[in-house]
Amino acid sequence: MNIHEYQARDLLSSAGVAVPRGAVARTPEEAESIARSLPCNSFVVKAQVHAGGRGKGTFKDGFKSGVHLVKTPAQVRDVAARMLGNQLITHQTGPEGKPVHAVLVGESTEIARELYLAITLDRVFNCPVLIASREGGVEIETVAEKNPAAILREKIDPGLGLQPYEARKASIFLGFPSTGLRAPCRLIHAVYRLFLEKDCSQVEINPLAVTKGGDVVALDAKLNFDDNALFRHKEIESLRDAAQEDPRDLAAAEHHLNYIGLDGNIGCMVNGAGLAMATMDLLQAAGGRPANFLDVGGGASEQQITAAFKLLQTDSQVRVIFINIFGGILKCDVLAHGIVAACRAAAPRVPVIVRLQGTNVEEGRKVLRESGLKLTAAEGLMEAAQKAVAAAGGK
Ligand code: ADP
Ligand code: MG
Repeated sequence: MNIHEYQARDLLSSAGVAVPRGAVARTPEEAESIARSLPCNSFVVKAQVHAGGRGKGTFKDGFKSGVHLVKTPAQVRDVAARMLGNQLITHQTGPEGKPVHAVLVGESTEIARELYLAITLDRVFNCPVLIASREGGVEIETVAEKNPAAILREKIDPGLGLQPYEARKASIFLGFPSTGLRAPCRLIHAVYRLFLEKDCSQVEINPLAVTKGGDVVALDAKLNFDDNALFRHKEIESLRDAAQEDPRDLAAAEHHLNYIGLDGNIGCMVNGAGLAMATMDLLQAAGGRPANFLDVGGGASEQQITAAFKLLQTDSQVRVIFINIFGGILKCDVLAHGIVAACRAAAPRVPVIVRLQGTNVEEGRKVLRESGLKLTAAEGLMEAAQKAVAAAGGK
């Protein structure tokens, strides 16, 4: 799960990380009055969306940049008025952009250096990793491509926790003098504590600024949380902003379906994550593109199957529905009843290809046959994938 920058700032601040003064506003008037209350004479107004690259983004109506530096509270109000209710498009949002319902109004910081600091999970080494670079303010992927030596990756042993020497090493790498390591080390430890305590999958501070006065301040923060641990962080779950999420993902979450929206046109319904991934590979190999990853799981109920089918049905991208089920714990007849129920509720507007194998396959096929619904059956995997690609409009 993602949260907004203004929420991430609050969490960082409670953890002991310095952030610029500021507050969130939902109307231009509120933005202006926050600016008036700040003891400074230049301000930053930042569009709040769940995406990076806001500074270089453009609004749907052509207004440039989701991060503006201005001099007066009246200008804060004017910029907020342009941003609120608009859609911000960045390289991370897709062409539609994301709606801006809030802006962060803050004091503008006099920046001496922009650094990069993150803690994320390393899936190769199965441990948290501290990532640091002096080239902050730009995407870390770009730095990794152009100048990989500018990035430090320090693995953290989760049993031992972050060691003082590791924080010192990162601080020195970030260019802090050996006599000035205390502040950055304290900050790095605070970030690691937050990462652990809130079950984050990533804490990214970009830029981490060194101010002209020598302070170390987090100017931007992106926090991601492990969805599987959200049940023990109700306070984090309450920060969810549904307006920023793919409506397909939200509907899937409501029914506890393991779903990820993609941009192809073949709606997939599969049981088991491995088979679901293999199905997407097969579709690609056959020249097609999946509209989603969907694993209905081993023990899916008839209701979940119905919900999953409805989700694919209502996805306007979907040109064909491809059901690929290997009946194990999930029995083929349960699945068939779910599909029939879903089709009765709303007749499929696109062709449906069904491949069933495994437990109770004969009963399952019988239910589908006798339903009178127009479904295309397939037996082999590749055959099924090819039929789906052809039905979606070919290669
Ligand atoms: P994004 O990463 O989404 O583009 P950032 O918050 O990182 O958004 O802002 C982009 C740039 O704007 C930063 O790299 C920094 O140079 C500048 N910036 C952001 N916040 C402030 C601030 N409070 N004071 C001064 N400059 C800022
Ligand atoms: Mg940033």
